[in-house]
Amino acid sequence: MGLEAQLPNGILLANVEKLVNWTRKTSMWPATFGLACCAIEMMTVGGSRYDIARFGMERFSATPRQADLMIVAGRVTNKMAPVLRQIYDQMPEPRWVLAMGVCASTGGMFNNYAVVQGVDHVVPVDMYLPGCPPRPEMLLDAILKLHAKIMDEPINAKRAEQKLQRGERTPMIPSSERYAPKTRGQRKLAERQQRAQRKEMGSDPQLGALQEAPQRPGELSSGR
Ligand code: SF4
Repeated sequence: MGLEAQLPNGILLANVEKLVNWTRKTSMWPATFGLACCAIEMMTVGGSRYDIARFGMERFSATPRQADLMIVAGRVTNKMAPVLRQIYDQMPEPRWVLAMGVCASTGGMFNNYAVVQGVDHVVPVDMYLPGCPPRPEMLLDAILKLHAKIMDEPINAKRAEQKLQRGERTPMIPSSERYAPKTRGQRKLAERQQRAQRKEMGSDPQLGALQEAPQRPGELSSGR
């Protein structure tokens, strides 16, 4: 805009910065871009169980021109790399990239000539998410951390310098801590829900381990 470069740093710009960053983080639209098995986990967060709509992100954009976030879900082959870069170039600024899974982050177990050994060889990455595949909860956690990062983005060079001097950072609290039950009542409710969930999934409600099917006489326990 230019105006912010002329004005002294004060309460006005600090609040505009917060407001701009808040609107950016709460209206992030991901580009529809799944490359391999990790994409299934990415699709899962769109369902009712994980509900990415809570963060205003349920609209996976079919065009890169209306997307701010590229979730690289899966391994990137050398053949795919130019296409990925073209999609990234077509996304408007500001834009962010999340490398989902070990394959996108480092090439993972595909240490060969066909697979790019980390998508950061092709596009700048803002957030790396480990795991093979990362659980949907992990993807949501990475998205929340990216939100915290966006809240730290300075509006101009002057503000960037000021923030650096002050060491201002939004704390990146893991979701497991932020949303952990705090009171006794909340803890009891969470335990009840977990027990019911385990029961529904067919595992032992006390131990949390999968119940083994009763063995028939003469049947080998393993090595089928
Ligand atoms: S990290 Fe694992 S799940 Fe994800 S694309 Fe690679 S092999 Fe598939």
